[in-house]
Amino acid sequence: MFWEKDIETMDGDQLYRMQLERLRNTVESASRSSYYGKLFKEKDIHVENIKTLADLRNIPMTTKEDLRKEWPYGFLAASKDDIVRMHSSSGTTGRATVIFHTMKDIDCWTNQLARCMYMAGLRKSDVFQNMMTYALFTGGLGFHYGAEKLGAMVIPAGPGNSKRQIQLMRDFDTTAIHIIPSYALHLTTVFEEVGVDPIKDTRLRIAFIGAEPHSEKMRRRIEDFYGVKSFNSYGLSEMSGPGVAFECPEQNGLHIWEDAYLVEIIDPVTLEPLPDGQEGELVMTTLNREGMPILRYRTQDLTRIIPGTCPCGRTHRRIERIKGRTDDMMILKGVNIFPIQIEKKLMDIAGVGNNFQIILERKGFNDDMIVKVEVQREYFTGDLKELESLRRTIVNELKSDILITPRVELVEPESLPRTEGKAKRVLDNRED
Ligand code: AMP
Ligand code: ZN
Repeated sequence: MFWEKDIETMDGDQLYRMQLERLRNTVESASRSSYYGKLFKEKDIHVENIKTLADLRNIPMTTKEDLRKEWPYGFLAASKDDIVRMHSSSGTTGRATVIFHTMKDIDCWTNQLARCMYMAGLRKSDVFQNMMTYALFTGGLGFHYGAEKLGAMVIPAGPGNSKRQIQLMRDFDTTAIHIIPSYALHLTTVFEEVGVDPIKDTRLRIAFIGAEPHSEKMRRRIEDFYGVKSFNSYGLSEMSGPGVAFECPEQNGLHIWEDAYLVEIIDPVTLEPLPDGQEGELVMTTLNREGMPILRYRTQDLTRIIPGTCPCGRTHRRIERIKGRTDDMMILKGVNIFPIQIEKKLMDIAGVGNNFQIILERKGFNDDMIVKVEVQREYFTGDLKELESLRRTIVNELKSDILITPRVELVEPESLPRTEGKAKRVLDNRED
């Protein structure tokens, strides 16, 4: 059941003591970096003043912009000789940020991933096909080392080359995959094209999906097609990468590992802390990183703490699936909309295919939203009436949720642009 029972089921008092000790160590080591060294001097912050976890609030928050400004070494807190690896964020929202790891950092991160995968049911006997990018992006190497530590056999497939992926799954009896959810849906069409049914023709039983927002509906589509149980995996390179928070077999929220991070949820506008249960921006402090500790990092990811305990017995709190990033929010005619709301509605409509794209345009003083939706092949058999009725259903369903009327265009399967990594859902053509 547990990879590290003592830690995973630690009671509140014990966890508090561990966190406080680790926080003090973190403040101590962070002060060796040029960024925090200067900041602590300016704000008169000393480790002796950290007597309770609440004292964390006296430390200013760190933003992505701070990390960018200090490129490349401003946050480095260890000697360069002790650094064994660097990673970087995918840079989808501007210039990438860089993170440095000592050997101990890599060991801790690897162990966290083994813990996550074990929790979801991966065992030594499994064959794990890792379909994430192996590069500066943390998804590939992070899971690779974690699965090896757990003892599974790893197939370092990387992304893309879909037909070969299917061949590998069949030839080596892959039982578990790690895959970006939008790619998992795209791959379903390739399975159909080559006439392979994952349920009958493979031994797949587990999928780890993450790195981008996805709805419960999308998870269920993946589970139904592949015949797997699928687990949401959350992480970000600034907090080491995947393995920050992960679903347990209950599939009801992601346990966020509180021996490794201090977790806060704040109001992104007032920056005030929010109580458990309320949605806001996730802010995290690393507790066991020596190469590059980061304090009170504003992740820009929106979620909430799920109140109450989890039946699985783990005491680390759970976050709800990520709704999106603060900068993903589209404001249209005064209405705030997240791409995941559109996805949730679309995935519920029979006939809707595996991909969609949102395009924002401005005409005069009017903002327009165009939603291009891939539709299943059988709708393109010539019956325009059926297609039009599907289009109307989509418009009405979306309107009922986002309160504005989007222009919906139906397109053929596989016709919308794809990336090998995270899906790019929104194209904003409006001028500032
Ligand atoms: P990167 O640092 O490039 O790996 O990107 C990290 C970002 O990807 C996070 O801050 C989230 O916005 C997003 N992300 C990662 N995992 C998930 C997930 N399971 N659900 C939603 N968004 C995710
Ligand atoms: Zn649980």
